[in-house]
Amino acid sequence: MVYNWLDYIRSRVLSPRCRLCLAPGEAGLELCRPCREELPRLLHSCQRCSLPLPDGARTVLCAACLHNPPALDGCFALFGYQPPIDQWIHSLKFGRDLATARLLGELLLAELVAGGLPMAGAPALLPVPLHTRRLRRRGYNQSLEIARPLIRNGLDLSGCRCQRSRHTSAQSSLPARHRHRNIRGAFSVRGRLEDPHILLIDDVMTTGATLNELARTLKAAGAARVDACVIARTFKQGQEAPGASTTP
Ligand SMILES: [Zn+2]
Ligand SMILES: [Zn+2]
Repeated sequence: MVYNWLDYIRSRVLSPRCRLCLAPGEAGLELCRPCREELPRLLHSCQRCSLPLPDGARTVLCAACLHNPPALDGCFALFGYQPPIDQWIHSLKFGRDLATARLLGELLLAELVAGGLPMAGAPALLPVPLHTRRLRRRGYNQSLEIARPLIRNGLDLSGCRCQRSRHTSAQSSLPARHRHRNIRGAFSVRGRLEDPHILLIDDVMTTGATLNELARTLKAAGAARVDACVIARTFKQGQEAPGASTTP
């Protein structure tokens, strides 16, 4: 009986199962390799806003970023906001599903390491802050939870005292044209900013209004460069096809 329990614990805890097909997970993750390779990876997208670029485009920037550069210097989105990533993020934000934060953070870390992110001299991480009212209601900041595997593997959290000082309506509840106005002036930085290069971490990028407002605030406080890594990028209608792919 004891051995059965040990086997059970070993199989359930030490070797997690794939959350999509229940096969043994890969490298300690709740995901097997075939299912990981089916996730809606975002390929060939604009380096500043992560929107898909047309097939065959030689540029690394979209026309909008070329003509009107955003405050963010660079943005990397791991996935398109498509199944199953959209459901996972929903349960992370609204269902206290912190196991999903760990899985998504591990996938982001693996991608950054594979892409040659040098740990020495790497930018300081800043998970996008929540207003204290929302943080109290939710109990955790999902962006910090996503960042934890990166922190455990040697990246530093920024020491800057950046806050969401103004409570705003949830961006997801507003039409795109109102999001910039809603978020304007929502962040503040207290004291001196010590990190010249900051990497923002967030779960989803929709219009980019939140990330760009935060980048603008950090630059006004002295940051020389602000990039962002997000788990998923939403698209305008008709933009899914060119850059998003279900193959790695
Ligand atoms: Zn699987
Ligand atoms: Zn762009």
